[in-house]
Amino acid sequence: KYILAFETSCDETSVAVLKNGTELLSNIIASQVNSHKRFGGVVPEVASRHHVEQITACIDEALDEAGIVASDLTAVAVTEGPGLVGALLIGIMAAKTFAWAHKLPLIPINHMAGHLMAAALVDTIEYPAMALLVSGGHTELVYVESEGNYKKIGETRDDAAGEAYDKVGRVMGLTYPSGKEIDELAHKGKDTYAFPRAMMTAADGLEMSFSGLKSAFINLVHNAKQGGKDLVADDLENLAASFQAAVVDVLIEKTKRALEQYPAKTLIVGGGVSANQGLRERLATDLTDIKVILPPLRLCGDNAGMIAAAASIEMEKGNLADLSLNARPSLVFRDM
Ligand code: ATP
Ligand code: MG
Ligand code: FE
Repeated sequence: KYILAFETSCDETSVAVLKNGTELLSNIIASQVNSHKRFGGVVPEVASRHHVEQITACIDEALDEAGIVASDLTAVAVTEGPGLVGALLIGIMAAKTFAWAHKLPLIPINHMAGHLMAAALVDTIEYPAMALLVSGGHTELVYVESEGNYKKIGETRDDAAGEAYDKVGRVMGLTYPSGKEIDELAHKGKDTYAFPRAMMTAADGLEMSFSGLKSAFINLVHNAKQGGKDLVADDLENLAASFQAAVVDVLIEKTKRALEQYPAKTLIVGGGVSANQGLRERLATDLTDIKVILPPLRLCGDNAGMIAAAASIEMEKGNLADLSLNARPSLVFRDM
């Protein structure tokens, strides 16, 4: 059973081949990050153009590296949302065309289900499972009672964790995306500035918020500057460490709460921010009585391998699409 998967929801053009649900034969990722850097974020039109330019070569490379040809395939999978509408449409058009030309079934996939199911590529998920998904556009807790049965139980009300990293990074004079660099700086610094941990009362439950932290960071730097102190120039590592400690404290606390409310056998951590070393260290020390699956870095960011992993389950369930499939830029998991 071979699935060819497409992922073009944001700024990575990716095509992968997955064998029998867990064996990733190829996972080609063409990143456009260098084209977006100078704008300090992803420019949708630029992203779509890049996807158009890259996708055909990615398909060829994915099949080549997997050592198979189109007639070996069982199905085609594609991210239908959430993401940038123009970017999603390129992957969907490519997947539909490929499926039609080779008479293959088409499987539509939620991008966040992909981030979650990246875990299946590295270990066995035991259900019920809990997932902490932290990425550039999302920060949410997802309860997975059984395979493919995703329910959102908590999320950020405003900024995603990755978005907060990238916005704070701009104030720190770092290039976009700045999560990785802040993570590295944080490791050389200490938690010295008392940044707020929002929505931590019992009544706040599993909801999160990171925009106040971002504002607090910007205000601290701005006010210090008014007073003649340049914290960015003189104390960057401690600033990074303090910011990261605040983000990680909230993520760990909310994950613990989620597991108290919805006991699970496996904790999955996914999305670009799950690459964060500070978060990984705290998971290792604070969540010892549950099996934790943390995908390797190359499976944390956007990639089609994770889309194929999620598709393998949907295929079993017969959740297919026809050629009328359209992009769903605001697709969300159902609430619990
Ligand atoms: P979404 O998945 O919500 O649609 P996205 O696909 O843009 O958004 P990802 O590609 O999964 O998000 O993740 C990108 C984000 O991860 C960026 O905000 C980036 O700064 C952040 N990130 C990457 N590495 C790290 C790290 N080590 N520490 C913190 N953040 C990181
Ligand atoms: Mg990305
Ligand atoms: Fe993503």
